[in-house]
Amino acid sequence: MIQNPLIKFENVFKSYRGDVILDNIDFTVNRGEFVFLIGPSGAGKSTIVKLLNRQEMPSSGKVYIDGQDISEIPNNQMHSIRKKIGVVFQDFKVIKSRNVFENVAVSLEAADASAIEINEVVPNMLNLVGLGHKIYRDPQELSGGETQRLIIARALAHEPDIIVADEPTGMIDPKATSEIMNLLLEINKMGTTVLMATHDFNIVNHYKKRVIKLQDGKIVSDKKGGYHD
Ligand code: ADP
Repeated sequence: MIQNPLIKFENVFKSYRGDVILDNIDFTVNRGEFVFLIGPSGAGKSTIVKLLNRQEMPSSGKVYIDGQDISEIPNNQMHSIRKKIGVVFQDFKVIKSRNVFENVAVSLEAADASAIEINEVVPNMLNLVGLGHKIYRDPQELSGGETQRLIIARALAHEPDIIVADEPTGMIDPKATSEIMNLLLEINKMGTTVLMATHDFNIVNHYKKRVIKLQDGKIVSDKKGGYHD
């Protein structure tokens, strides 16, 4: 059986008021891959992430998730696509009025999971990201790296096929960065596809994965084994 690529961008253009932000973006990501999307600030990385879960629509071109053109999916069925993608946004906030457990549970409650399921899945996810011992803590007591791990646990809760992380290491120190990277690599080894947007060339060079380089809204290279100019 031929499998669809999990993600396919086909000649995607995006403009805002006449400014071309994405210029003919064309790439696929297969199941099981770990892909970095690298480029300087303003290159268009976040816009690609937003197109993936239909937060934004392309000006032209198509975005497919698992073979489905997502522009054709009725709004009331978008949850089935969003379940396939766990997005970790740069500016995702924890819910301050809820504890660590509840911050992960919200993503399952939104998908109508039962209390039994929530009580089973949430501790598993928190253990996976190394926060099992902080399950009932106030999220404001967490460090920057722990907060990112909490946000990853939330994105993982509904067992997505792909984790899309937009600058997950943007605001944390080198030690926490390597913990987040190890976690994403571990998640990938367990079978989840990972697409990570970053402007940090050091990270990309260190991990020797596939690298799609974006500049001024264009893909300027797409190579396996790290970044080389
Ligand atoms: P990156 O994530 O690589 O920093 P972005 O995708 O956030 O890049 O932004 C790419 C370009 O698109 C930037 O020049 C940004 O100012 C512009 N842009 C992003 N969103 C909007 C918007 N809603 N309206 C107008 N311009 C936007």
